[in-house]
Amino acid sequence: MGQGHGWEGAVLRLLRGKDFTFTVTGAEDVTPHYRRLHLTDGGMLAATGVHPTMWVRLWFDNAGKPHQRAYTLVDPDPEAGTFGLEFALHEGCASDWARSAKPGDTIDATVQGTAFTEPDPTPAHLFAVADPASLPALNSLLDAMAPESATIWFETDHDTAGLPLRHTPARHDLRPLPRLENGAHLVTRVKSDLPALLKEHQDPYVWIACDTATTRSLTSYVRKELALPRQRVHSLGYWRAA
Ligand SMILES: Cc1cc2nc3c(=O)[nH]c(=O)nc-3n(C[C@H](O)[C@H](O)[C@H](O)COP(=O)(O)OP(=O)(O)OC[C@H]3O[C@@H](n4cnc5c(N)ncnc54)[C@H](O)[C@@H]3O)c2cc1C
Repeated sequence: MGQGHGWEGAVLRLLRGKDFTFTVTGAEDVTPHYRRLHLTDGGMLAATGVHPTMWVRLWFDNAGKPHQRAYTLVDPDPEAGTFGLEFALHEGCASDWARSAKPGDTIDATVQGTAFTEPDPTPAHLFAVADPASLPALNSLLDAMAPESATIWFETDHDTAGLPLRHTPARHDLRPLPRLENGAHLVTRVKSDLPALLKEHQDPYVWIACDTATTRSLTSYVRKELALPRQRVHSLGYWRAA
């Protein structure tokens, strides 16, 4: 890895608020509920560099009003000035834009707030709680950390089979589960699985990125009840349940 430390401090402050325009060059329906776009970066990556889980604020149009939502860069290539975006499809302006996006379409972006602190020591085992919205970030984390083993709780109402999950099935334990009771099912499951699993691994690292309420509840559980140190827990709410 190595590109996480100090990244935000130096470059991002310079760019705070700076806007870029991306252009769609291709689109593919990965599953009926997950769509990938290919884009050129309008010069962004050469200016910002890249880091795992890097995301941008995209400006969608909501009946004439600006509608800003965060999306994660997939396989950013600073030399080519390209990256992908993967959209978990649901109702909403961002999803609607993605559904109909085609080559030549453009979207404005702001780079602000993205950061990644490399866990030290690098965890041999990754505990992750994710869903389709945080799948691109989870994948970039798996690529960057290449954990020997992992436990991944993945909340989705759809089949995981067609999704571009980059785990290694032989070493990474994927535990898909449906979204029930507004995420409470996921919380219960993690709470029942995690304590015993934590004892099996040194320097555990827990990464939590699902809907805001679920993320908050699990983060508080892991920090307060399981007493994991702050620097071994990373969490960010990715979307707000209605
Ligand atoms: C750092 C960061 C990176 C992100 N990266 C990605 C990414 O790469 N790909 C991606 O798909 N999403 C990503 N998200 C999540 C995305 O920003 C939100 O899902 C956002 O709300 C989508 O905007 P929208 O306009 O489509 O829907 P909104 O107008 O925000 O919401 C419309 C309705 O859809 C519901 N909704 C919103 N998001 C979801 C969801 N994920 N699942 C189910 N229902 C939902 C809301 O509760 C509401 O009822 C990221 C979020 C963060 C914070």
